This record gives sequence, C-alpha cells and structure tokens, in this order.
Amino acid sequence: MSEQSATLQCLDRTRLARLVDRERATYVAAHPRSQALAVDGRDGLLAGVPMSWMSMLTGDFPLYFSEARGNRITDVDGITYIDFCLGDTGAMTGHSPAPVVAAIRDRLETNGGITTMLPTADAAEVGRDLRRRFGLPYWQFALTATDANRWVLRMCRQVQKRPKVLVFSHCYHGSVDETILIVGPDGQARSKRGNVGPQVDPTQTTRVVEFNDVEALRAALAPRDVACVLMEPALTNIGIVPPAEGFLEAVRGLCDETGTLLINDETHTFSAGPGGCTAAWDLRPDVITIGKAIASGVPMGAYGVTAELAERILSDHDADLVDQGGVGGTLAGNALSSAAARATLSLVLTDAAFEGMIALATRYTEGVQEVLDTRGVPWSIQQLGARAEYRFCPELPRNGGESAAAGDPELDEYMHLYMINRGILMTPFHNMALMCPTTSVADVDRHTELYGQAVDELFS
Ligand code: PMP
Repeated sequence: MSEQSATLQCLDRTRLARLVDRERATYVAAHPRSQALAVDGRDGLLAGVPMSWMSMLTGDFPLYFSEARGNRITDVDGITYIDFCLGDTGAMTGHSPAPVVAAIRDRLETNGGITTMLPTADAAEVGRDLRRRFGLPYWQFALTATDANRWVLRMCRQVQKRPKVLVFSHCYHGSVDETILIVGPDGQARSKRGNVGPQVDPTQTTRVVEFNDVEALRAALAPRDVACVLMEPALTNIGIVPPAEGFLEAVRGLCDETGTLLINDETHTFSAGPGGCTAAWDLRPDVITIGKAIASGVPMGAYGVTAELAERILSDHDADLVDQGGVGGTLAGNALSSAAARATLSLVLTDAAFEGMIALATRYTEGVQEVLDTRGVPWSIQQLGARAEYRFCPELPRNGGESAAAGDPELDEYMHLYMINRGILMTPFHNMALMCPTTSVADVDRHTELYGQAVDELFS
C-alpha cells in the first residue's frame, strides 16, 4: 500500500456543486457568440443542433468553432483551445493536415470528381497500406465505422449460416442494432436503456457477456450458433478497459474451438500504434473494422478480411453481393475519401508519428498520476497508446459493468468545464485525451498543470 493511501482525500459534494456552478457561469459569460448561434440553431434544427447528441455537450450550449488546425481549435468568440478531443478520434491526424488538404485539393481542383461509381487508383493503395498495418489482405470501404460494422455482421452471419452475434457489455460500435445491449445487474442480457426503436429486441440477435470474463464467453459460444464476436481489443467507450492477461488469447482460442469468427473493431484502438492493437499485440482476428481517423475525418470506414474468409464470401452463391443483397453504400469508396485516406495513411499517421504521439500520451499519463499521488487523490488513469483517460475511482475497472458503475457525471462536468474555461478541450462524454502529430510537450504539461489546479480546488 502506498504512503498516500493513508491520507486519501474525500470528495466534498457541496464544494463540487459550488465549483460546477462557478464554472458554468464562467462558460456562459465567455461565449456570447456561441450562445447566440445555439439560439439561432433552434430555428431549423431538431433540438437546435446538427446531431442530437450535440445538445448533451458540456455547458448550457455547444461551442461553435470557426477554425481548426493541427491540435488547435478557435471558437466563434475568438478563444483558442488545445484540442485533446480531436473529433473523438476522427481528427487523430490533427485538424486539416497539410498533405491531406493537398490531396483533397488535387482531387477536387486538378482532377475533379467526388463520387462517380467508378474506382480510382487511390483505393487499392489504401487497401495495401491497411494490409501492411493490420495484416489482413483484403479490404472494402464503407462510409463510417458504424457502416463497416453493420455490414460485416451481415457478412459473417451469411457465410457462417449462424443467426447470432456476440458483443461485450457496454461496448460501443456505432448505432448498430445488434450491439445496443448490456449485461443487467441480474446477469441477464437487456437492451440498453433508451435504445431507440430497435427492429427487434437485441437480446434476440445477440449474446452479451462482460469483458475479461472467459467463462461467460465459453458458455455463450458453446451452442455454436454465434456467427462472430465483435469486439474492441480494449474497451474505449466506457473509459479504457484493457484486456486482462491472457484474455485475448482465450477469446481467439474459444472462437477457434467453436468455429466463431472474430472481428476487431480498431476504430478507437488504432491509437495503440500504426496497426492498432492487432499489430501491437500480435492478434489474429478474422475481420478488422475501422473508420474515423483513416481519412483524417473525411467520412470513410473500412473492413478487412483474411484470405480464407474472402474465399468463403466470394464463393457463397446464395449471397447477392453486388445488387439487391443489401450491400448499399453509393458513396462508399468514393474518390474524395480514397484520396484523403491515401494521404492520411502514407503521409500523416506514419510509424514515426505514432511514436511521438505515444510518448506524449505516456508523459500525459505520468503527469496525471503524479498529481494524484502527490495529493493522495483516489483516482486513476489508463493509457492506450496515443490516448489516455482518467477515472474517478482508485482501482481501474476490469469490465464494462464496473466501469459504468464508476462513472460520475458531476465530476465529468466539473473537469470538462474547468478545462474548457482555461483553454483545453477534452473528449465529451469521457475524460479522454488523444495526442496527434502536432500535440506538443508544452500542451501536455499545460494540461497537467490545470489538472493539478482542478484537483487542488476540489480537495484542498
Ligand atoms: N466503433 C467504435 C469502437 C467507436 O468508438 C465508434 C464511435 N465512437 C464507432 C465504431 C462508430 O463510429 P462512427 O460514429 O464514426 O460510425
């Protein structure tokens, strides 16, 4: 037990509420133009925002931005922020990286053509780059990670001739019907609270078990009616929950034993390195899905498959893969996204860039940990490559259920507003920070300094 644990600090909720009120008032006072645009948005937009979740962002109204470059965002009130949100990974490249802007400009101005129903040479380059990174040989494109996940679930059910899929509790793979369920407190699967208009109750399509629970997974796969397991190698959407020692090997082993396909969704875990967790941890999935950062935020999703699975897909003559079978995606693999992805992968998210980003995330994590240690604050932080997330609990959660239980919306709001009011953007709905190629040591140290101040105001 560390010396500090003898003097663990206790959270004073009354003080927290007072501080949140103070930070809210500061936020409102500093952003009159954003507030005016939010009022204006109510005339024409459902809930006043382009996407309904934007109404849930910290503060009484969202920040409206006017400029975003590298890891800096400037809002319409003229305030510039260090951005650790980076579009929740969509801008892990930094905003508008020059080589991608040049490739987009070239596509649009020099050659022309955004979407045509014809391929360009860029797409195959992107496929080869993804193969080099992730080890899977054959790739297809979608518009988003959600879109990629939705399609691979269908493909797996088709070739496997099995009806069900399996996910881990509190996973997030986009708005994919089959994934919106959790293990309830009674240990039974249940649709997530507020699940909007599911076609069928997801417990009919999906088995769900807690992450890191090998025995539950063994039991769930035993009937051999599960076509595929869809997982993030580490959960990232309910805090970061890393796999326990041996867990991922056990997942692969159980999938092999029961003839179940394994899908790694690397959309966020891409932060672990140039080939995500799959390459960093030497994993062997049958399918990889990804989106967000691969085209610097220009909409693009992708999925890759093994040679064996490719063969099974192409030789399944029951499946109409080219017309009415539901493949869809008129805009998928379009010329603009393909050009952006080629430049992103070959020129921005390089091996060297990841090295720098991961070193910064390590510095960030160590800085936060030192603040916690020196003040005796019973919180924790978890790093996954270029990202790190702090939690308001002493022990890092081992699964989604524990992680959800450790959530504290009031503390989230305090930390987010405290940071915004002093020039730092964190990822909304998380306490996650992501590094990009232009994040600097000074940016990380500024965060550490503010984190220390926020903690001191709360506990001293
Ligand atoms: N997969 C994972 C792991 C994600 O975190 C997300 C979004 N947070 C998605 C898929 C869906 O991405 P999109 O909303 O861009 O389709």
